[in-house]
Amino acid sequence: MITDILDMGELTKLRGQVIVIGSGIAGAEVATFLARHGRGVILLESGRDKFDPSIQALNDVIFVGKRHRELNPDSYYHRYLPPELRGVSRVRQFGGTSNVWTGKWKYLQPSDFEVRPWVAYSGWPIPFADLLEHYRSAAKDYGFGDLEAEAMRSEIVALRSKIAAGGLKLTSFYWEETPTRTAIRFGDEMRRSKNLQVLLGATATELILDESCRRVTAVMCRSMEGRELVVEGETVILAMGGFETPRLLLSSNRQIPAGIGNEHDLVGRFYTDHPKHHTGKLYPGHLARQFAHELQYGPKPRFCVCFALDDQTQQEHELLEHVLYLQPIYERFAERLWRKIQGRPACRDGNGRIASYRVKFVTEQAPQLSSRIKLGTEYDVLGQRKIELDWCFTDHDRRSMAKTLELLTQRFAKIGIGTFDFGDDPPSLETMTDAAHQMGTTRMANRPSEGVTDTNCRVFGTENLYVAGSAVFPTGPSYSPTFTILALARRLGQHLLQTTEKSANYLQGV
Ligand SMILES: Cc1cc2nc3c(=O)[nH]c(=O)nc-3n(C[C@H](O)[C@H](O)[C@H](O)COP(=O)(O)OP(=O)(O)OC[C@H]3O[C@@H](n4cnc5c(N)ncnc54)[C@H](O)[C@@H]3O)c2cc1C
Repeated sequence: MITDILDMGELTKLRGQVIVIGSGIAGAEVATFLARHGRGVILLESGRDKFDPSIQALNDVIFVGKRHRELNPDSYYHRYLPPELRGVSRVRQFGGTSNVWTGKWKYLQPSDFEVRPWVAYSGWPIPFADLLEHYRSAAKDYGFGDLEAEAMRSEIVALRSKIAAGGLKLTSFYWEETPTRTAIRFGDEMRRSKNLQVLLGATATELILDESCRRVTAVMCRSMEGRELVVEGETVILAMGGFETPRLLLSSNRQIPAGIGNEHDLVGRFYTDHPKHHTGKLYPGHLARQFAHELQYGPKPRFCVCFALDDQTQQEHELLEHVLYLQPIYERFAERLWRKIQGRPACRDGNGRIASYRVKFVTEQAPQLSSRIKLGTEYDVLGQRKIELDWCFTDHDRRSMAKTLELLTQRFAKIGIGTFDFGDDPPSLETMTDAAHQMGTTRMANRPSEGVTDTNCRVFGTENLYVAGSAVFPTGPSYSPTFTILALARRLGQHLLQTTEKSANYLQGV
């Protein structure tokens, strides 16, 4: 069922078996999965059905380093969104950030999980194989088509071998026609479910531990109207995104002054995003003309491709992964005339003749301790300390980006994909924006001295507290984190099936 915290009448306490906080893709997936398997789940969501700017303001951040993009109702870039959401990186609403996202689904690659000796703190403590079954089952359930089969399609194999000869690599992603909105995808199931209670308008403000300080026993909630509720449970999953998850861990500091899971001062550190630049152009060469259909972007749904330097080059030059996307811009009449006068052949895909490609260039950021969030000195309207975000970069980030651009420019021209034109706005970390991919702030590790969560996404030092979402990513080489968020949420769901019992009598109000 879906209720609002204001519908709780006289209740001051609610008891569930599993408490999930956050109804974005991560939280909705793991909550419905566990409810389907007979677990009694309470899902706490700060937002409500409709977007509410005053609830959204709970996400406000104090920037002390590089700023994020900001709300810009006139933005060209997010013009598919209503003006009040253009430029927003995280959304406090039922369904979370899935209310605004673009719907590109991409696997991480096996190499993304490996230690790269030239990238400090690289490597995941789990292998790609651990996620593969979850990627596959999610693709089937969500109806994405088969990314592995797509990678073996003869045209893609041919294009890949041509660009491999030029020291480049190519990966495919799936682009949904209408991006999955979790409130729509799971709304009916949630309303009907007897095992799942969704509480809207319920902002989690504190985690309460037992005397041993190892088990979370309850979550304190508050609404914008001042309604308070204690929600007790046996297992708690934080699925609040890459900022609010560490914020709640740090704010829960009455019993452990440094915050929960923060024995080694790692909660909130290693924050990375994918700085992106999207105003460059590429003028197509003969290879782009030959494979224009593989570079096509619409109509959706469809598989699309993106490019990077190959692994050998990255290793040789000690580079991070920087990925490049090409979006066709179709010829207008005058451009067509000019091309004909010049005697240049047309570059044509299934949608028309292409004048140029818009270039989106996105970079991996090297994980580092000082890129971090911590609690600031200002408070939000619920009395919670706001986040202070110090988003910063290393020399490695800068060097890697400059070298990658140089090599991509040479190689794209040499093998005939085309020539770049960045005009007077070349990619630079100073001007690039975030990609709304908040990663690393409760990174997964083998031991507590190296991270915040273990390989089952359990917070170190606790017995029953878990994280679902990109906060656990130790590195984020590949763009588009959400397929991996989904795969990890499914993996966590399966883990919890093995460690929790079915419980019919879970919902008790006091
Ligand atoms: C414009 C845009 C386009 C994007 N496009 C893509 C794309 O094409 N491909 C891709 O892979 N990724 C994309 N992303 C990123 C993607 O949207 C996120 O990775 C994904 O939605 C994160 O899901 P989540 O469930 O982890 O977090 P969220 O969806 O952010 O969910 C967190 C939830 O927790 C709730 N919450 C927060 N704090 C509290 C609290 N204290 N108490 C209770 N509830 C709380 C929030 O209200 C929210 O509902 C895009 C993002 C944006 C902004």
